[in-house]
Amino acid sequence: MSVLIKGGRVITAADDYVGDIFVDGERISLIGDSLDVSADRVIEAAGKYVLPGLVDPHTHLDMPFGGTVTIDDVESGQTAAAFGGTTCHVDFIIQPKGQSFTAAFDDWRSKANGKQVIDMGYHMAVTDLKEGGTLEELATLPDQGITSYKLFMAYKGAIMVDDETLFRVMQVAADTGALVMVHAEHGDAIDVLVKQALERGETEPKYHALTRPPETEGEATNRAIQLARVAGCKLYVVHVSCRESVEPIAIAREKGWDVWGETCTQYFFIDYDYLERPNFEGAKYVYTPPPRPKENQDVLWTAVRNNILSVISTDHCAFLWDGQKTLGRDDFSKIPNGGPGLENRLHMIHEFGVRHRRISLNRMVELLSTNPAKYFGLYPRKGTIAVGSDADIVIFDPDKLHVITAATQHSKTDYNLFEGTEVTGSPELVLLRGQVLVENDELVAKPGVGQFVQRARFGEELKPERVPA
Ligand SMILES: [Zn+2]
Repeated sequence: MSVLIKGGRVITAADDYVGDIFVDGERISLIGDSLDVSADRVIEAAGKYVLPGLVDPHTHLDMPFGGTVTIDDVESGQTAAAFGGTTCHVDFIIQPKGQSFTAAFDDWRSKANGKQVIDMGYHMAVTDLKEGGTLEELATLPDQGITSYKLFMAYKGAIMVDDETLFRVMQVAADTGALVMVHAEHGDAIDVLVKQALERGETEPKYHALTRPPETEGEATNRAIQLARVAGCKLYVVHVSCRESVEPIAIAREKGWDVWGETCTQYFFIDYDYLERPNFEGAKYVYTPPPRPKENQDVLWTAVRNNILSVISTDHCAFLWDGQKTLGRDDFSKIPNGGPGLENRLHMIHEFGVRHRRISLNRMVELLSTNPAKYFGLYPRKGTIAVGSDADIVIFDPDKLHVITAATQHSKTDYNLFEGTEVTGSPELVLLRGQVLVENDELVAKPGVGQFVQRARFGEELKPERVPA
């Protein structure tokens, strides 16, 4: 199958030009001014943006958490992603305590089997390490294409690791070239604050934020940065939500240390006040780190403009409001933490980032596609439009009106964080490795088209032969 995309405005992290793209099989094989080639399918793209498929490096599909399981499995989550122009994501395997990484990897692969709509890779979330076992096994993961280790510095008594485990993983990463990712919050202090709040009878959703003050995020971010310096590893701080965490990252980057930061769509739009909505509606916004006071939103926009933060992900971790979030109706600490977002990252960042003139189109592509592809060993197969790259392409109509609402979304959850938001600009057609995935608001391809991608190490290019045909 060959596809010719004619006359679109091609936008990558670096370029912005009108041209034709010829896709032969799964890859882009020619780019030019007016290509004189015949193709099985011709897509007229005049007036449209032609973007590289987006990469979301932070999602949780089919994940057991907080006494339940996320409502989106691989099929529904990836379908939502596809409609939002995301053609590749990196999900988290959570190592069950005491289990080997290989067993966990097999388990997560089997959950995805036959359901994949887009391409995907995995990070390994380490929850415990034993010498003469998992400590040694950890070093073997990058050769299997799992080139990032995630550690939770919060969720005490569940998946939190102590500083010794964090530091040992950092040492292994320094050896293997894997990227260390941290969920940075001071889990011990938060645990004390949560218990004290509950003793005072403070049970409503807003106490989720009030027991996790921004300083707990700032402290853990700085701690991780300093420990990464000692270990000599590369560090990526996930879901940065506030000034207290942006500042230590800014200092580290100013010094030229190997530190990168990510924020998520919701932190630009949802603030603390949402948690105070009555009748338990605040529970929809219980995710971690929590929605912050509104003044942090400008701090985040500035940080993504200045490359203090280099990636915008979704941290999609969807639960039903009615039926799952309600587990915590009488105790905020029992509300499953997480929110949906996979489908609307491009809608929201294009509207409020690009159209509101906070960032350029090139920078949008860099934040949503190119940088995540580079940091997570997917580039240049993913993350750009270039000869030889996978033909993961979004034809984006910059004039198409779209109202974001749970009524028409593809996630299985029953609410949307951005309910009722009107945006101008929406994906019109999405290609995955040359196949049409989404067209005319329909999923065209069948589950099973997506592939597992063995990722390269940070700083190494992903060569085509790394993926089995
Ligand atoms: Zn997460």
